[in-house]
Amino acid sequence: MDMAHAKEDDLFREEVRDFLAEKLTDDLKRRARAAGWRTFTDHDLAMEWQSILHSRGWVAPAWPKEFGGTGWSVMERFIYQQECLAAGTPRLYPQGLMMLGPTLIGHGTDEQRSEILPRILSGDDLWCQGYSEPGSGSDLASLQTKAVKDGDDYIVNGTKIWTSTAHYANRMFALVRTSTEDRPQKGITFIMLDMDLPGIKVDPIINMAGEHEFNQVFFTDVRVPQAGRVGPEGQGWTVAKYLLEFERGSLSAGASLANALTKLKLFASERERDDAPALIDDGGFRTRLSELEVTADTIAMTEKIVLSSLSANQNPGSAANVSKILSSETQQRIQELAVEAAGYYGVPNHVVLEEFGPNFGPVGPAFARNAAPGYLTGRMSTIAGGTGEVQRNILAKMELGL
Ligand SMILES: Cc1cc2nc3c(=O)[nH]c(=O)nc-3n(C[C@H](O)[C@H](O)[C@H](O)COP(=O)(O)OP(=O)(O)OC[C@H]3O[C@@H](n4cnc5c(N)ncnc54)[C@H](O)[C@@H]3O)c2cc1C
Repeated sequence: MDMAHAKEDDLFREEVRDFLAEKLTDDLKRRARAAGWRTFTDHDLAMEWQSILHSRGWVAPAWPKEFGGTGWSVMERFIYQQECLAAGTPRLYPQGLMMLGPTLIGHGTDEQRSEILPRILSGDDLWCQGYSEPGSGSDLASLQTKAVKDGDDYIVNGTKIWTSTAHYANRMFALVRTSTEDRPQKGITFIMLDMDLPGIKVDPIINMAGEHEFNQVFFTDVRVPQAGRVGPEGQGWTVAKYLLEFERGSLSAGASLANALTKLKLFASERERDDAPALIDDGGFRTRLSELEVTADTIAMTEKIVLSSLSANQNPGSAANVSKILSSETQQRIQELAVEAAGYYGVPNHVVLEEFGPNFGPVGPAFARNAAPGYLTGRMSTIAGGTGEVQRNILAKMELGL
């Protein structure tokens, strides 16, 4: 594995730093910090930051240049992610930029690419992902939402669940069943549709942190033009699997965990507990912190192995799965430690308090305010995008042939 940094990489890092120093205002940083506990992001903040990145042409680092991406190398993308994390940039919605966009580049028609990709980049279209259904999550191929051909359209009936941001999105990409005759995977079709079509109903689901992040979406005789189909009818499983590779791939989890640990360490060093020493001087706390730091380093090294394989156009194999399993579980352990560190300041749920209008101001240091909602929303990291158990199944198949 070649870990040496080329001079061009250092110059590129400088360019990114200069851009962030100019465009990432204190206000944006403050709002990004405040939204840090959320599963995805704060809507207005995400759209504002996307528009800034779009003006610079940096909104889709992984897309090829001809489609409005940056054309950056894998190493440049890695450096960019590192710098954004270190600077504390707002997060963007991944559904269009990281899932549908690359999928259309790989499987869409020229017409679909030229119509849809620029609108993803500009933020004119916001997409949601309609895959999961009640009873069809890990076993996605069992999905039941039905699409029946009628002239140039499909008539869609059924329901999707856990649909993140469907209450903001104006468009959805979805998997629907167009046949029940062959293996379940063979009767699935990938379609794109407008969220304002007659017959679509979006019901909110409030997560346990009090956040409205996902929804259940109902379809009753919804007429969807067949022109919105991606790939041939019945081949949606191939398209969906291609998309999931983008949903699960990340090269910055190690850096993100290290970032969270730095914040935790800072808080534990500053916190005064009456006459007691700062938490950072507590032996038990330090041991747990050190264990997590070692794991975060291990993940960062694993990601570098993936990075190195990708840079050499090789398949990284199971390293990406190992990284996903380890990073999601480590994230949860950091969040657990953060709640313990926050102590009683972590108890009030500021998200709910803000929603209903408290008759008192925020209690305790800012770090502590994010601890409990971060811990609660963080339960999702071992579920979303493929559960930890399912990831282990994949690993067992790939590496052990089980
Ligand atoms: C925050 C969040 C956002 C999400 N956003 C979206 C979205 O925008 N669009 C969308 O389509 N979906 C979304 N999802 C849904 C997500 O994809 C599913 O929750 C996930 O695939 C798991 O499916 P499930 O919830 O039906 O759980 P199940 O599949 O019912 O699993 C329940 C438990 O059984 C275990 N299990 C299941 N099968 C096996 C097996 N074969 N071997 C061992 N253990 C097994 C699982 O690991 C889990 O612990 C989101 C989920 C979360 C948490």
